[in-house]
Amino acid sequence: PNERLKGQTAIVTGGSSGIGAAVSLALGKDGANVIINYNSHKEEAEQISEEINKDSICGKAIAVKADVSVEKDVIAMFKTGIEEFGTIDICIANAGLQQDAALHEMTLKQWQTVIDVNLTGQFLAVREAIKEFMKRGMRPEVSKSLGKIIHMSSVHQIIPWAGHANYAASKGGIVMLMESICQEYAPFKIRCNSIAPGAIRTPINREAWETEMALEKLNKLIPYKRIGIPEDIGSVAAWLSSDESEYINGTTIFVDGGMTCYPGFTTNG
Ligand code: NAD
Repeated sequence: PNERLKGQTAIVTGGSSGIGAAVSLALGKDGANVIINYNSHKEEAEQISEEINKDSICGKAIAVKADVSVEKDVIAMFKTGIEEFGTIDICIANAGLQQDAALHEMTLKQWQTVIDVNLTGQFLAVREAIKEFMKRGMRPEVSKSLGKIIHMSSVHQIIPWAGHANYAASKGGIVMLMESICQEYAPFKIRCNSIAPGAIRTPINREAWETEMALEKLNKLIPYKRIGIPEDIGSVAAWLSSDESEYINGTTIFVDGGMTCYPGFTTNG
């Protein structure tokens, strides 16, 4: 077993489903304690938590409810996690949603819900994480960094997305949030990076993969010709949380099978 995260504690927002669930499991398997945040799917969060707890090689896990867009919820969740495990070393700001509409028909509520969860929700989580890192100080026995932050962004931080302007704007905002945090806190040895997934098979984009026809259409956008799976992101998140990637800071890692390489220009199908 790889014990590269042993003795560290991670918090994963939106950890009850899809990418967040796979990231929670990957971190747990590498030895981290995991605080699995959920808002509405308690049973699923507890199931992931149990899966980590039943394996003696893994760290320990707990499921904690919080709406990431509500300040007092996020503060309370960090308090619970720190009481349980002592501190937090890794923050994966992953929770996100879509509320799709043509821009001229988009309601203010649709706009605001997406910005509140995808952008403000990530701000609130990483702010609390940085507060804890700064208060606690270095723990050289477990990591060379004071703390690690990973934002779950999207290829739509650079690919414009008609019909999803609120979502694309939220992910575009993540770039400058992440890079500004890197610039501000790198001198304290905090690492802040993003993962930008391409199309990953999860409930958020079911209509893009549930029929053969939809998959065929989707594959036209993926040079590697397969849809991603949540574990593709889990393995990168675990490595990016570990000292193996210590010198990576202020970067977005695209995990997209080549989706950002203009597949429309291909000469190979
Ligand atoms: P998902 O719907 O399976 O998971 C999203 C999670 O966020 C769920 O657990 C949901 O309950 C949680 N969530 C939503 N609102 C919340 C709130 N207010 N408070 C707390 N939790 C909340 O989808 P996913 O694909 O696993 O998405 C995870 C992240 O990855 C999102 O940020 C998404 O934008 C990003 N992403 C996904 C894809 C993809 O193709 N699936 C591609 C690029 C980026």
